[in-house]
Amino acid sequence: MDCGPDVVSDAWQRLDDELARWRDAGRSVEFWWRDDDAAQWTPALAQLLGLAQRFDIPLALAVVPASAEAALFAQLTDEICVLQHGVDHRNRSAAGAKRAEFACDERTEDAVARIGAGRARLAALAGARWTAAFAPPWNRLPEALAARLAEAGLRGLSRFGPRQRAQPAPGLVQVNAHVDLIAWRGDRGFVGVPAALEQAVRHLAARRTGRVDRDEPTGWLTHHLQHDAATWRFLEQLFERTRGAARVRWLPAPALFATGEA
Ligand SMILES: [Zn+2]
Repeated sequence: MDCGPDVVSDAWQRLDDELARWRDAGRSVEFWWRDDDAAQWTPALAQLLGLAQRFDIPLALAVVPASAEAALFAQLTDEICVLQHGVDHRNRSAAGAKRAEFACDERTEDAVARIGAGRARLAALAGARWTAAFAPPWNRLPEALAARLAEAGLRGLSRFGPRQRAQPAPGLVQVNAHVDLIAWRGDRGFVGVPAALEQAVRHLAARRTGRVDRDEPTGWLTHHLQHDAATWRFLEQLFERTRGAARVRWLPAPALFATGEA
C-alpha cells in the first residue's frame, strides 16, 4: 500500500471536494461515530474518550453487556451514549462460516430473550447514557431476529453498509456504519488514510446521487482495542478537519435512533 504524502493529501482533498459538492447542493453532511467492543476500562478506552472530549465529537460506545464492568460506566462523561453490542460476543457460527453471535440455528425466541436480558443489564449500568440501540457483533443479525428487537426493548439497529430500509421493522430505526478503520483481513492494523477516506467518499457520493438512502448519516466505525498509532492519528486529523467545518454535523446517537414514537 502506497501511503506517501501525496497519496494521503490527495485522499483528504477528495473528501474536501465531496463535502464541497454537498455544500453546493445546499445540504449538510451528517456523520456519526460508533466504537465497538467496550467492556472494561482500559488505557485504549481512556484514550478514546479523551479524543471525543477534546474534539467534542458525540461518541456511541457499543458495549458488550455480559462482560461489561460497572467501573467502566463510572468513567463515562455525560456526552457518551451507550449502545448494546450483542450479549456475550461469542461466535456461534458453524466452523468455517462467517463469525456471528446470532447464528441461524439458535431459536429466535431464545435469542430475543438473551438480547432482552442483556439490554436490561446494560441499561441499568449505563443509566442516563443508555440509548436503546443494538449493534450486533460482526455486524451480523438474521432478519427474523432484527424484526423482533423491539420485543427486547430496543428501538435502534446498527450494522454495516448502506441500509436497505430506514425502518426494517415497526418501531425500529436502522442507522449503520459505513467506514471501517481496521484492516480485518490484513494485519488487523489501520487500513490507511486513503482506504479510510475512500469508504467515506464513496458513501457520501452514493447518498448525494441517490444510489443509496440519502438520509442515512455516514457512520465511522472504530474498535479502540485494535487501534495502532496510525489509527489514533487519523482520528485526530479527521476530527480536526471536520469538527466545526461548514455544513458538517456529527450527530449524537439519540438523534439517530429516534423512532418518532414515545
Ligand atoms: Zn465486536
